[in-house]
Amino acid sequence: MKSYKMYINGEWVDAVSGKTMPTYNPSTGEEYGLVPVADKEDVDKAVKAASAALPEWAKKTQQDRAKLIMRLAAQVREHAEELVELEVYEHGTPVMLARGFAMAAADQLEYIASISRGLMGQVLPHSMPNTVGYLKRVPIGVCAVITPWNVPLMMMLSMVGPAAVTGNTCILKPASVNSILGVKFIELMGKAGFPKGVVNLITGPGGSVGDALSTHPGIDMIRFTGASDTGKVILKAASQTAKKCVMELGGNNPVIVCEDANVEKAAKMQAGRHYGNSAQNCSTPGRYYVHEKVYDKFVEVFTEEVKKIKVGLPWEESTGMGPMANKQQLERVNYLINTAKEQGARIVYGGEKPKDAALEKGFFLMPAVIADCTHDMTIAREEIFGPVGVILKFSSEEEVIKLANDSEYGLCAGVWSEDGAKALRMTDDLRVDSVFINMPRMMTSEFPWGGNVKESGVGKSDSVCGMEEFTDLKFICTSYDK
Ligand code: NAD
Repeated sequence: MKSYKMYINGEWVDAVSGKTMPTYNPSTGEEYGLVPVADKEDVDKAVKAASAALPEWAKKTQQDRAKLIMRLAAQVREHAEELVELEVYEHGTPVMLARGFAMAAADQLEYIASISRGLMGQVLPHSMPNTVGYLKRVPIGVCAVITPWNVPLMMMLSMVGPAAVTGNTCILKPASVNSILGVKFIELMGKAGFPKGVVNLITGPGGSVGDALSTHPGIDMIRFTGASDTGKVILKAASQTAKKCVMELGGNNPVIVCEDANVEKAAKMQAGRHYGNSAQNCSTPGRYYVHEKVYDKFVEVFTEEVKKIKVGLPWEESTGMGPMANKQQLERVNYLINTAKEQGARIVYGGEKPKDAALEKGFFLMPAVIADCTHDMTIAREEIFGPVGVILKFSSEEEVIKLANDSEYGLCAGVWSEDGAKALRMTDDLRVDSVFINMPRMMTSEFPWGGNVKESGVGKSDSVCGMEEFTDLKFICTSYDK
């Protein structure tokens, strides 16, 4: 089994303690590779390296920083197959999907590089004569980037890319379960020519390494994506030194299918999109509220679509859904399915271990459709983060808006209706960051994601808005009086 290293100040290093931990191949349950387990001393070294690199990096022209991000995009294209292999073997992403992720990753980096050159400050009228005041965008400083395991490559680059391009130096702490993807990503940054100390990589468990980052006085900003509960722990830790925190957190996203919806299309498109990446996405619908008049039809068509999904080994070209990314998540989803059964929901399809002997040892689960759920059931209240479609019945617009909003989360929602005015009215009433009408959720680099609704986040990610989060507006005032 191969051992990997961390990247601090432009050098590949072991943890000071010499300790390592394994990552796993979720398709076989076997150990995949070893990464260092950092402690406070390693974190301190990385923070010192990032602090030392900051002044020069921050002073580089925007053009020069953007050029390096373009070179990184080229590296991602050149080494796409290695990234795909890691996505497949360390995360369980079906190979077809992993290829799409690698290309999307390069595209997103090119987008990040290009928009960074259009970031603007502001000039404001001043109340004093012969005085001009302006706001200039400057980097925040040393940024800790803590990423989740669910879409590993995309998550890392969509946080490290905007942080670095705006002149911040970074310390990446990837999710423990797929840290080797983090190693590969940082290796490509090194090859692209980022100066030493601008990006650093620390590996190890979130509880210790993440905490060492969140409390370190040398860190100016935390960019975190992960569970809401973890986010709240980090916010508390980071408050000790008043760090800026931007966080994309959990979701339990409602999708509402009205009686006047194109039900066939809604069921087919939602089912077709739901189970990709084993539904381990923050944007996956957690609750399908379907009007009682079209409920049976929706359940039937949705289920027929789900039956077409081929569960298999992720390195096989025909596989539509691979394993879940880790054992803990599989156990959690099994618990939620069993609880739903006990609480009276109807398992329409799936939810059991596949029968194929080749999948015996991996963290596989057949995609599940669970109908006749009620709003108070555990499976409707909690974020599932696994291949389960939860279907509930409603009878009036007023009722469904109330139910949809009754959640501690507010990430995104969907509405299916052929009545445009009604759909728009519903978007006004839904307390979420994003709403998709007559389409499944579709995130693109150009639009911001997340935001500040309830416990789903603090600040924006992606697009120009997400990039601006990595900058401070510095006020500069000058007199031109004689
Ligand atoms: P997680 O919160 O368990 O872990 C995320 C990261 O935080 C990991 O790197 C982990 O090691 C680290 N961490 C854990 N404890 C920490 C601590 N005390 N201090 C600092 N860091 C710590 O999340 P996960 O299970 O990896 O990811 C799934 C969650 O992420 C889901 O809730 C999902 O909705 C959310 N997510 C949200 C978005 C979004 O855009 N809103 C996108 C992807 C994932």
